[in-house]
Amino acid sequence: MSEQKEIFLEKEIESSFVARKRLFIGLITTTSILVCLILVFLWLIPFVGLQNIHPAASWILGLAVTLSILFTAWAALALVLNILLKRQVLFSGKIRGLSIRIFLPLMTIFGRLLGIPKQKIRSSFIKVNNELVLSENKKYPPGKVLMLMPHCLQKSTCSRRLTYNVNNCKRCHECAIAGLLELSEEFGVHLAIATGGTIARRIVVNLRPKIILAVACERDLSSGIQDTYPIPVYGVLNDRPMGPCLDTQVALDHVRRALELFVQNQTVDKKVSAAETATSN
Ligand code: SF4
Repeated sequence: MSEQKEIFLEKEIESSFVARKRLFIGLITTTSILVCLILVFLWLIPFVGLQNIHPAASWILGLAVTLSILFTAWAALALVLNILLKRQVLFSGKIRGLSIRIFLPLMTIFGRLLGIPKQKIRSSFIKVNNELVLSENKKYPPGKVLMLMPHCLQKSTCSRRLTYNVNNCKRCHECAIAGLLELSEEFGVHLAIATGGTIARRIVVNLRPKIILAVACERDLSSGIQDTYPIPVYGVLNDRPMGPCLDTQVALDHVRRALELFVQNQTVDKKVSAAETATSN
């Protein structure tokens, strides 16, 4: 891909996500403040009663609450800094797990109370998850990369059965599957199509990938990211010009960009090892 096209594409991806990132940062900050307030109340309420049990009991509980508050504040701050600086800070290596397991469910509840649509919260979570995966700054051998696609990308009138063998596609290019097959061959990565969560899980268990590049809607992507943790998932949202689950589309340029980011470059690796062999000789 030319450098200009690459810059244009990155700007396009970035601008489509700016609002989602702000929403996520707003929600994560408010949620963590709320958690801290709840923790303070947890300490305050029994405070009076605890005095009667033991003079030190309330202070021990106070210490536990303080540590919990510090932990919550650290997690939120590290997460926000990670998003803003696009790299891991404040020992935030495990922050993706925290964000997936704790913050997303809390943010969904809190966002609902504020009347923010679930879809918006999910898409901001997907964006942030992608940035956390990117901030790990890792590349993977092609055989350990799985491109996981939803069944709805296949043209609804196509009679080919792809779920168990994606190579049944005759590559007429009437839907994105043909282009995705070409990309998977070019990069040497696995490509699989799932009709639902159960099949997706089975594919992941069988192939044991080190990273998943998944295309889906907000709902399936965010639940997939949660289900497959700790395997990192880089999510690309599909386009739905015909509505959900029918003849959906995906920008192949975005998928290619993601593959370039995560797949180890075989040509470069071969050149390096050839140069090393020549030097050692
Ligand atoms: S590219 Fe053609 S053959 Fe392949 S899945 Fe799409 S419509 Fe069917």
